[in-house]
Order: sequence, then C-alpha cells, then structure tokens
Amino acid sequence: MALTGIQIFKLLPKTNCGECGFPTCLAFAMALAAGKAELEKCPTISAEAKEQLSEASAPPIRTVSIGTGEYEVKLGGETVMFRHEKTFFNKPGLALLITDKMDPPEVERRLGSLSLLQYERVGLNLRPELVAIKDEGNKERFLAIVKQAASTPYGLILISLNPGLMKEALELSKEKKPLIYAATAENADAMAALAKEYGCPLALKGDGIAGLIALSEKLAGLGIKDLILDSGSRTIKEAFSDQIVIRRAALQARVKPLGFPTITLPCEMTDDLITETLIASLFVAKYAGLIVLSDFAGENVFPLLLERLNIYTDPQRPMTTDQGIYPINNPDASSPVLVTCNFSLTYFIVSGEIENSRVPTWLCVMDTEGLSVMTAWAAGKFVADTVGPFIKKSGIAEKVSHKKLIIPGYAAGILGDLEEELPGWEITVGPREAAHIPAFLKNR
Ligand code: SF4
Repeated sequence: MALTGIQIFKLLPKTNCGECGFPTCLAFAMALAAGKAELEKCPTISAEAKEQLSEASAPPIRTVSIGTGEYEVKLGGETVMFRHEKTFFNKPGLALLITDKMDPPEVERRLGSLSLLQYERVGLNLRPELVAIKDEGNKERFLAIVKQAASTPYGLILISLNPGLMKEALELSKEKKPLIYAATAENADAMAALAKEYGCPLALKGDGIAGLIALSEKLAGLGIKDLILDSGSRTIKEAFSDQIVIRRAALQARVKPLGFPTITLPCEMTDDLITETLIASLFVAKYAGLIVLSDFAGENVFPLLLERLNIYTDPQRPMTTDQGIYPINNPDASSPVLVTCNFSLTYFIVSGEIENSRVPTWLCVMDTEGLSVMTAWAAGKFVADTVGPFIKKSGIAEKVSHKKLIIPGYAAGILGDLEEELPGWEITVGPREAAHIPAFLKNR
C-alpha cells in the first residue's frame, strides 16, 4: 500500500535543511506522497529508509523498457484508471508484424515503412517504434529477419514459443534488449532462463486472467522482474475486458502479479486492416502497453499516433510554445507583425497558415499559460493590459520600421484599450479563423 505523507515523514531525517527544494521535511513528505517530488532529491536520507520508501513509492504498475537508444520504449508506470485523475505516463508502443513467411522484398518494405510513417505535429515527431518478428516454422528466414531488423534503430519483439530458437535470435539481437514473447505454462522455466541470461524483458501468455496470475507468480518466483502480460484473449470483447480487469486489479486491489504493462495483438483478431485499426484504437485508450499490427499504412498509423498523443498528454497542463518573436518566411523591417497566444495548437496552426501564405511575417507569441486566445481573453490573460506591455518589452519595435500590429479576430474586443496601451501603434483586427490568414496577409 502507498504510504501517507505522515508515514513518509517519520522516515525522513527531519533536519529541515531545504536541500530538496522544500522548506521542511514535512512539506517534502507530503509532496512525495502526492507523487509531486522524487525521493532522490533528499541527499541525507538513510539507505534503510530509502529502500523502504522506494518500495512504497513505486508505481503499482511496473515500468518496463524495451529496446535501447532513441527508440527505447518505456511502458507501464501508470497510477490512475482515467487520465483526468492525473495523467497517463508511458504511451503504448506500436509494433509492425513481420513473419518468416514473408519474402525479402516484403520484409524490406515493412522495415522501410517505419522510417516513412513519421509525422511532425505540435513540434513533436509522431512515429511507431517497434518491429515484432514472428516464428512461423521457417527457422532460417526467422533468424535472417531478426538479424536484418537488429541492424535498424527500432525496438524488437521476438515471437516464438521455442526456447532453442529464441536463444539463437537473442544471440543476433541481444544488444537491442528485445522483448521475449512468450513464456507459457509449458516453456516458462526455459524462457525465464533466457530472460535472465540476456537481461531482456519477458512477455508471458496466460490462459485467461487466472492463468496469467499463476504464471506471473511463477516467473516472479524465478526472479524475473520485467514482465509484459498477455491474457491470451483474442476476441475483441474478452481482450478489451481483460485490459480493464488487469488495470483495475493492479491499481485498486494491488494484485501484484498483474502490476505489469500488457501486450495486445489486434493482428490476431481480424483479417481486415481497418477493423484491426479500430480494435487497436480501443487499446490505445484502455490500457495496452504494446499493440502489434499486421501492417502499417498512413491511414491506420497516423490516426493511432494522433489518438495516442491526445490520450497521453497531461490533461491538467496545456501544451505550450515558448514566449517570443518567431520570424516566418524570412521577414524584414517592413513585414507585418501578428500577435497570438502560446497554446501549442494555436501556435502551430497560425504559424502553419502564415507559412502557407509565403508572406514574410513576424509572429509574436505571448505567454498565456497555454490558454487559447478566447479562453485567455476570458481569463484576463490576453487583454490590453497584458498584450500592450508584452509588445513593448518583446523587442519587436527594434525589428520593424513600422508600428502596425495585427491581433486575432477573436480578441477584437481589446482593440480600443490596446490602442491606449500602445500609443502610436496602428492596431488591426485579423481573421477569426487561422485558415483565413493567408488571404488576409496577401490582400493587405
Ligand atoms: Fe528534509 Fe531531506 Fe528535504 Fe532536507 S533535503 S528538508 S532532510 S527532506
């Protein structure tokens, strides 16, 4: 069970030295209990207390990593059932299935698709991260594909129930710390030995939730800590229900054998890629750690990446862009000046439309704590009293030879007051919708 702030306080040094960034040990203890501080910030805590607290403050779902380097995927570490309670931390990894029945050109195409299907959005690179290589009886092809995939930067899932073949595959890919899939009731001892020998995470495939718990307990008893759970269900209803049961059991009932990320395989639930994508979208929302798809195409990967981005952003913290002046299309002293808020989506939509217009422009982005223009205006954060001082201090007046400012159409109500705040400036109300910006700039 998680410790309360007072229980944590009893284990702290109680010197109130402030080195953790909190004025007192009690304040630090309360922050730690609320998950808003890290234990490492207290440099004087005893090793014994640290061990007790580390155990108690560990998330009920273990964090497990697959892969190395820039494509390392972290799974689990979740603490809530619903994202609005706090946030979800580690987004599910998307894996592309490759089997040993596929010929070399098809394998080449599939591996190539991972580098093609990458998208820039709100300053982030959205991309799938993993390849799942499945043994379907052709040993030579399986090992050849493992070797080929190991030379790519992507994370690997090795799918085989044969411990002997898995060992050969691990020899070819051990540097990448692949996920071993899967330990079952029949091969658990041998697969556990491989996971230990190569230091890799191990997926276990149970026969329903009860079987999963029994297998998880067995593997924990064998000293395997990094587990990924597959309940074995392959119908949509059962697999979806299992995800919820596992999450609820881990978080609310603290069923330790279920306190691990999960793997789902929509690729084994239907033959239709669009249906498969719909199934995958369920697992993005609830509560897969890994999702294996039978193929990647723009029309199935992009919506899933976007859904994943939306679900795995902190709902209590809007995405923001840094306050500042952004030159777009190489502006000069005569270029127009626009001002907007620092809600990331607004910034990227507005800057994108200015780019589309090809009109050299200065875009002044004001810190509104991530609120959109209308919300910031309603909250008193995008009003003449704030926009005026921001423009004066921003330094834009030194970059242009005119004093003309364009404000968003949704902030038209601040026009009169802003003219008083910025004497000598000519204020123009721009379009309400970003899509109308190109025509507005061209027609000026
Ligand atoms: Fe207390 Fe440790 Fe923080 Fe110092 S650093 S105030 S001892 S919790």
